[in-house]
Amino acid sequence: MDEVLYYPELVRLDATWRCNLRCKHCQTGMFREPGSHYSDLSTEELEELFKQLSRLGTKQVGFLGGEPLLRHDLVSLARTLHSLGIRPSITSNGWLINDRIAYVLTQEVPVDIAVSLDGPDHSRHDNIRGKGSFERAVKALQRLVKYRGRSRTVLIGISAVIHRYCQSNVTGYLDLANELGVDYMVMAIVHPVGTAKQYWDELSIDQGQILPLTRTILKYFQSGEFSFSLRLNFLTPAMRDVLSGEGWSLGGIAPYYDRAGLYECYVQCDGRVFPSQKISEMVPEALASAAHLGLDFSDNSIRKKSMQAIWFGPSFEAYRRLVLSKVHIANYQSCQRCPFSQSSCFPTAVPFLEGAPHAQDFCAYLYNSGLGPFRSKVA
Ligand code: SF4
Repeated sequence: MDEVLYYPELVRLDATWRCNLRCKHCQTGMFREPGSHYSDLSTEELEELFKQLSRLGTKQVGFLGGEPLLRHDLVSLARTLHSLGIRPSITSNGWLINDRIAYVLTQEVPVDIAVSLDGPDHSRHDNIRGKGSFERAVKALQRLVKYRGRSRTVLIGISAVIHRYCQSNVTGYLDLANELGVDYMVMAIVHPVGTAKQYWDELSIDQGQILPLTRTILKYFQSGEFSFSLRLNFLTPAMRDVLSGEGWSLGGIAPYYDRAGLYECYVQCDGRVFPSQKISEMVPEALASAAHLGLDFSDNSIRKKSMQAIWFGPSFEAYRRLVLSKVHIANYQSCQRCPFSQSSCFPTAVPFLEGAPHAQDFCAYLYNSGLGPFRSKVA
């Protein structure tokens, strides 16, 4: 394999797993449970990581969490990234974004910021994220848009999750985004990962509803005067084919490609590196399947090795070989129905579904736990 072709253009980095909220669908909630011991990378460790990423050609580092703004060095870390020619971005719950922070992040140390919303109104959002969180998130967006002004040097967006409570008013998200004057909106579907497993009966949406919901969103978005861009993370290649066949124009909708391990990777707050969040400690079942296939990411910590040694090391190389040797996810019916395949398990699930002795483990997680869409065993 010609390794020069692949580099970590985008690095998703959990700045911390600490958080001021306790959302029902939190993917990292289990890391805050009693008995979990993780130490955040220090400022110095992160600065060293950024230097190494710069040498590998990284263009963007996206801070996730936890709540990234709980790190007091976040602005200084963003400044370091700028000095290395790397664009910083943050996904935040918005609670801590006061006037001063909004000004600094839009005017002094420009950072692209997405604020998470779990509904277009108080009742839906606060039901998931806690009392008062909708108002704080909306105020944060108003401040960010105000201080960004017309410069558009930073992009302000909404990261929206569709779950059972908001599926009856998905178009409300679009109206709210327009009203707030954001630059973009990313929509995802709730996944049975982390804390969401405990609330799955309450939060899950019928997988059969995803296509009709998508039609509703498209119809509303394309008939209105919306000034922001829209990305639907659950729009799989198979769904695009179906919708195009029905005559829908998908021109204005940014496609989602999973580039895990090829042009992206994920760094946990404790320095361990994985191809994506869906093949990390967040989804232990995926790690178990990876281990059965001979993919061992357990030693990939930037506390032990350089990022270069990890990216070009045996586990990432084997992962790439596996991914690139397989055909498109659209050929796998079970993948098309799987909630994971709507996001960053593609191209994960493809190799995992085929051939290897324990290949079913990853998808069997959904099937056996009753969390997934499967009505019959994955063949
Ligand atoms: S979803 Fe985000 S804001 Fe909510 S608890 Fe998890 S990390 Fe915190």
